[in-house]
Amino acid sequence: MADLIDTDFYQIEELLSEEERLVRDVARRFVDEEFLPRVQQCFREGSFPMELVPRLAELGFLGVTVPTEYGGAGMSSVVYGLISQELERGDSGLRSFASVQSSLVMYPILTFGSEEQKKFWLPRLARAEAIGCFGLTEPDFGSNPGGMITRARRENGGYLLNGTKRWITNGSISDVAVVWAKLEEDGTDVIRGFLVEKERAGFTRQNIEGKFSFRASVTSELIFEDCWIPEDNLLPKSGGLKSPLMCLTQARYGISWGATGAAIACYECAVDYAQNRKMFSRPIGGYQLVQAKLVTMLTEITKAQLLAYRLGRLKDAGKMRPDQVSMAKMNNVSTALHTTRLARDILGGNGITDEYPIIRHLLNLETVNTYEGTEDIHRLTLGRYITGLSAFE
Ligand SMILES: Cc1cc2nc3c(=O)[nH]c(=O)nc-3n(C[C@H](O)[C@H](O)[C@H](O)COP(=O)(O)OP(=O)(O)OC[C@H]3O[C@@H](n4cnc5c(N)ncnc54)[C@H](O)[C@@H]3O)c2cc1C
Repeated sequence: MADLIDTDFYQIEELLSEEERLVRDVARRFVDEEFLPRVQQCFREGSFPMELVPRLAELGFLGVTVPTEYGGAGMSSVVYGLISQELERGDSGLRSFASVQSSLVMYPILTFGSEEQKKFWLPRLARAEAIGCFGLTEPDFGSNPGGMITRARRENGGYLLNGTKRWITNGSISDVAVVWAKLEEDGTDVIRGFLVEKERAGFTRQNIEGKFSFRASVTSELIFEDCWIPEDNLLPKSGGLKSPLMCLTQARYGISWGATGAAIACYECAVDYAQNRKMFSRPIGGYQLVQAKLVTMLTEITKAQLLAYRLGRLKDAGKMRPDQVSMAKMNNVSTALHTTRLARDILGGNGITDEYPIIRHLLNLETVNTYEGTEDIHRLTLGRYITGLSAFE
């Protein structure tokens, strides 16, 4: 039996460039040596390891695809995917931190921001001198963000914001929030993006307590009560629900790689355990029912890797479509959740303790299945693509 547990069953390694492998290996080492030794304590305490944030910046993991002229790493989407996979092999909270900063904060500033906004914020965000968050979801508008209540009103040469955003990753540790709000323009409400610095009067944040998932990640509520921001804080090229959805497409792309990383961590743990845990007459890995579970896990991981890899190449070629991202996000998270549950089962009682990574990944993946479009919302997106008929409303 091979010493090393093979999680590259279809030899995707051969399809990667030397640079892609190199960056992936750097991310893998960082997770193994610097993150994994801390994660158990963080998950128990319900804290994010802020001391590692400068390292994430130093390694170029914040703004991976952002052009170097704005302080980013200027690398490909496949590299971003591989980094996401490795970070989430550590913990979904770690990958989320990098995803939010890169895809949900730097991307909208790069895409919808003015030259001044880009020059001011992007290098700071890449160097982790500023942390960002993305406020779209509201207490009463999750899967249907277009119904948002948060409003911006023109006042005193700027905007007055009112509303509440909920479930915001990094909310209370952020220096700047990308906030989506409705603004009346020519008699119609249009969703626009605004940058709100943490010091603004009328802007308060509070942590959401009692989470059993994403414990090593900060999740917050953002409250805007007559919060005034200057005209320059509007993202000038944002307009309509399409703008935040474009950001989500970027983040969902990273998630489809990341979830596979979590599934790989659990699969490796389950194979090792099955080879060593003896029950009745032999190691449990020698029983057909346990083997069947391991076969399902490896097959689903392999399919997920192929979807993510192909999606990455399409993205780098400028050909990726949002419905393709929906399929990869829906499939790869849902199968990661399924394989992680199988791994939990193989570990028996040990599968529920944090001595092993499985229960932590399993609890995290419950969130990953819900956020950035629930599994069913992506199913409806694909249903609409196939039939041309919307089943949302
Ligand atoms: C830990 C965490 C971090 C998050 N981080 C962020 C963040 O940084 N920024 C941000 O803006 N948001 C964030 N979110 C919010 C997340 O995107 C939402 O939770 C998600 O969009 C789902 O919204 P909801 O929770 O209101 O669920 P709901 O929309 O109420 O959905 C509940 C259920 O109803 C189903 N459902 C809804 N509509 C339909 C329909 N038409 N047909 C069939 N089924 C339907 C859903 O699939 C789901 O099963 C985060 C969430 C969590 C848990």
